Amino acid sequence: MKLNLTRSRLLRGALLLSLAALVTTASAAAPKIRVTTTTSMVTDLVKQVGGDRVEVAGLMGAGVDPHLYKATAADVSKLQQAEVIFYNGLVLEGKMTDIFAKLARTKKFVYPITEGVPEPRLLEPPEFEGHYDPHVWFDVELWALCAQTVVKGLSEFSPKDKAHFEQRGREVATRLRALHEWSLKKAAELPKERRILVTSHDAYNYFGRAYGFQVVGLQGVSTVTEAGLADMAKLVDFIKQKRVKAIFVESSVSPATIQRIAKDAGVKVGGELFSDAMGTPGEIENGYDLGTYEGMIKHNLTTIVGALK
Ligand SMILES: [Zn+2]
Repeated sequence: MKLNLTRSRLLRGALLLSLAALVTTASAAAPKIRVTTTTSMVTDLVKQVGGDRVEVAGLMGAGVDPHLYKATAADVSKLQQAEVIFYNGLVLEGKMTDIFAKLARTKKFVYPITEGVPEPRLLEPPEFEGHYDPHVWFDVELWALCAQTVVKGLSEFSPKDKAHFEQRGREVATRLRALHEWSLKKAAELPKERRILVTSHDAYNYFGRAYGFQVVGLQGVSTVTEAGLADMAKLVDFIKQKRVKAIFVESSVSPATIQRIAKDAGVKVGGELFSDAMGTPGEIENGYDLGTYEGMIKHNLTTIVGALK
């Protein structure tokens, strides 16, 4: 009898233990939300907000130009299998417009993250021909608004996790506020007249507005500055006249033209900036991880300020 009792206790104990193990396994292996994203900046933002509740497949890696990117068959299947889709929008992913339109008809949780930015805060440079400028991530305050779209999208898909995503969203907002303050301080190291940024393409309009730089992109230059700058010779004159110390190449755009202009104007290439794609995750420069949004922003500003000082 005594033996039996002990045995049944042991059995019950074992049963409880295995039940506990089951519960632990179940919560650890709770299915993650399958998210597909486009640019590396969007991928980074969704990971920041979603944390361990999401599994993110980003379609575009380091050095990829989203304006020209065409989705492969594998990309389309990743998009179809996704439970939630986030993309930049504002026609940044210009060759994928039709795909997103189609997906929005058959899927419920498809979000252009820039929908969270109020229209009055969007720029509409003439060279975009009636479209808004999509490069909103270079104004950290606007990027914080995009984070709210991620919170909204994940919460709509999984209402039971809403509080979790909102909490993480607040943490992301705090980090982005600190990054914005850091950026303002860093930019202020340069006197106003030195804040002239010459790059390959017009990705930095929001950056210029937020941090007080005059921005000249070679592609689309005539509309960002005076009409007369529309050709390379005039850009060379502009650089000389304004005594710009350095101009910059971009990681996702061929550097040839900028190198040539630098040579003709007798200025140095001040370094490589990230524009429409971040670096490779884990690639560290000056202590910044170039594969993260924060690292990209800090790398760009440190490079710009260092070269123009
Ligand atoms: Zn661009």
